[in-house]
Amino acid sequence: MKREGLLIVVSGPSGAGKGTICKELLRKNSEIKLSVSATTRSPREGEIHGVNYYFITKETFQDMIDKDEFLEYANVYDNFYGTPKKYVFETLSKGEDVLLEIDIQGAMSVKQKYPNGVFVFILPPSLEELKNRIVKRGTESEEDIKKRFGSALSEIEKIENYNYFIINEDVEKSACELQNIINAEKNRVSRYKNDIIKMFKEEL
Ligand code: 5GP
Repeated sequence: MKREGLLIVVSGPSGAGKGTICKELLRKNSEIKLSVSATTRSPREGEIHGVNYYFITKETFQDMIDKDEFLEYANVYDNFYGTPKKYVFETLSKGEDVLLEIDIQGAMSVKQKYPNGVFVFILPPSLEELKNRIVKRGTESEEDIKKRFGSALSEIEKIENYNYFIINEDVEKSACELQNIINAEKNRVSRYKNDIIKMFKEEL
């Protein structure tokens, strides 16, 4: 049976560990394709253009908006981030699954345009732990840490818009839970019923 790939959208507050979980999932399952976002933020040490993000100028970002090249974009903690739509739709139409690791505003835009996606919210075990993780990561300035931690609760309040949640106590376990969610969604009747009927009818 030919099925369209699954669009998996993972979000959650900064420091919840969504990036690490996604990385672990992709390490274990190379069939899932990661959508590389464009951003106007400067690269952190070790980040590579085209791998972690496409690091672009505000002008180029605006140009991509004008040309309608984004599936979604948002201003997150004073920088722009966006999902280039071409890669996502080309990959889905090949029957491959695509993973987006994006913020909550972006996830909600995707949901409006593509309600068939699977929306997964990553939670920290507690707010205290969230703060520890952001500080420990050591990649943000004091001001950025405040910004990121300050919006955590209001972000968590948006969880009702998601299909699934994962409480990230352990990366390995959380990545397994994410894979289990994907497995279940790939066998959901409502998602594929037309393809199933078509496949059996074609046999007649
Ligand atoms: P960071 O600067 O820590 O890499 O990312 C900051 C936030 O931007 C994270 O919540 C991350 O998920 C989000 N983000 C990354 N790429 C995108 C994107 O393409 N669109 C949106 N809306 N958010 C993104």
